[in-house]
Amino acid sequence: MSVVMTKKLNLEKLNAQFEKSQPAEILRWAIDEFKPKVALSSSFQTESVVLLHMVSKIDPSIKVLFLETGWHFQETLEFKKEVVKRFGLTNVVELKADPKKREALGQETGGKPYEMNPDQCCYMNKVEPLQEALKGLEAWISGIRRSQSKTRKEIKIVEEYQGGLFKINPLANVTSGDIWWYIKEHKLPQHPLFEQGYLSIGCWPCTKPAQPGDDERSGRWAGKEKTECGIHTFMKPKRAAKKEMETQAEKQEGSEI
Ligand code: SF4
Repeated sequence: MSVVMTKKLNLEKLNAQFEKSQPAEILRWAIDEFKPKVALSSSFQTESVVLLHMVSKIDPSIKVLFLETGWHFQETLEFKKEVVKRFGLTNVVELKADPKKREALGQETGGKPYEMNPDQCCYMNKVEPLQEALKGLEAWISGIRRSQSKTRKEIKIVEEYQGGLFKINPLANVTSGDIWWYIKEHKLPQHPLFEQGYLSIGCWPCTKPAQPGDDERSGRWAGKEKTECGIHTFMKPKRAAKKEMETQAEKQEGSEI
């Protein structure tokens, strides 16, 4: 029987320290601590260039996971090519859905899974391939930020999940203004759709320009209740899972009185 060894980290102390650190320092720590069992996920949209640029300065051979759903804007694919070349990234991996499952869902939904069953479409094209790619890793670096949306405002810089995986969000407390300062300061390329009002860019069938005054991710699945594709919510950090169990136990105790 194989035993999974889980790294012991003092998350409270680390998170307190990292709240005052620069994202590049957090990234360097994560790479030193977990390499080679570490990867960064990236959707290669406007804001992604910040983390990709920082990684390229530390170690351009770090594995970068890109979810190739087959529904990306052509502009995103071209932008990805440009960024990979310019930053010298040497280990970009495209993750794809199981072709049989994709075909079956396509048939069930008349070729429009994103309209008929967007949750299943995201699960099959994004969550499952990512789950597979995370197997064997100790750390997953992501570019999500608290100020992007209500659903992200509670994220920590370092989270621990069941099974010994750590998720590192070096940009958790970074604002949109900080991102734009960095892009300008380092003269980084800009996604061609940004100028047309696309503040957050995913698959073309599910992305619209954001409306003035709405949050940055308001153009994603606009008009639907869906706000996340699931890759940042399919696992619960240990602290959240523990809290949920305690709440359930309290409810049960209450009902037994
Ligand atoms: S974002 Fe839309 S097209 Fe892309 S995987 Fe999700 S539902 Fe499908």
